[in-house]
Amino acid sequence: MTATETLDTVLITGASTGIGAAYADRLARRGHNLIVVARNKAQLQTLAEQLAQKYGVKAEVLAADLTLPADRARIEQRLSDDDAIGWLVNNAGMGGGGPLAAAALDTIETMIQLNVVAPSRLTGAVLPRLLARGRGSIINIASALALAPELSPGAYAATKSYVLTYTQSLLKEVGDRGVRVQAVLPGVVRTEIWQRSGGDINAIPAHMVMEVDELVDAALAGYDLGETVTIPSLPDNEDWNRYNAARLWLAPELSRNVAADRYKSDIPEDA
Ligand code: NAP
Repeated sequence: MTATETLDTVLITGASTGIGAAYADRLARRGHNLIVVARNKAQLQTLAEQLAQKYGVKAEVLAADLTLPADRARIEQRLSDDDAIGWLVNNAGMGGGGPLAAAALDTIETMIQLNVVAPSRLTGAVLPRLLARGRGSIINIASALALAPELSPGAYAATKSYVLTYTQSLLKEVGDRGVRVQAVLPGVVRTEIWQRSGGDINAIPAHMVMEVDELVDAALAGYDLGETVTIPSLPDNEDWNRYNAARLWLAPELSRNVAADRYKSDIPEDA
């Protein structure tokens, strides 16, 4: 990219508060024009005006409920049509639904729509265009719970495991075709998601709670380092590399034409 070329426009979902709003600030500060998406139009407009004034970028508001197919389709259309958009930050997400044995099933379904279906459809909408131009970035906000579902009850962690696995599949498919992909796995971050899902962030030990700017600055530093998976609070990235290597070590053993010896019955067939 030369100094005279404009930076790609970034579309950020869930930009009205929390992690998404911090991404909007940091990416505008880097000089990207923005398209910010969420349900709360007034909040998005305030943010867009502030960022346009502060950083001299263009910031457009698209109000949409990403759990509603008609709203989502408008965003998909824009992603597939607008050549200025080169980055997608799939950040919008929700928790909740309660423990599995007493789950609010409709809430879980809505959560799957937002946390799983929306990022998959938005990525699918933008990807052909990014691959055609051989350049672009897709950042997916997962969660550390993708690696440690035992730390939280309910179906939320499973939605975030999907985001991690989806990103790893994306890397395999498009990683050598000019499109950057990154999954970000935050731990506990002080945002509205806790009140929204009925949680109490104040009940969590302070040493486990990260502030939102710290999180997003680290996530973007991970992006700049070329990471595919960024765990902002993990002190030694070699721990992640070892974990991932152990996973890959299993791969050649996972599909064979015979079952493992421990599953072979000792009982003779004619007994
Ligand atoms: P947040 O402050 O509650 O932000 C969530 C964002 O998503 C808001 O902008 C919200 O805006 C938007 N959103 C919610 N429902 C939506 C819908 N149906 N359609 C469109 N937009 C919707 O929470 P956050 O912590 O910043 O969450 C951002 C991401 O980080 C999520 O994917 C979350 O799972 C992930 N994460 C958070 C933590 C944490 O501890 N905070 C940890 C790990 C991962 P509107 O209400 O205006 O729609």
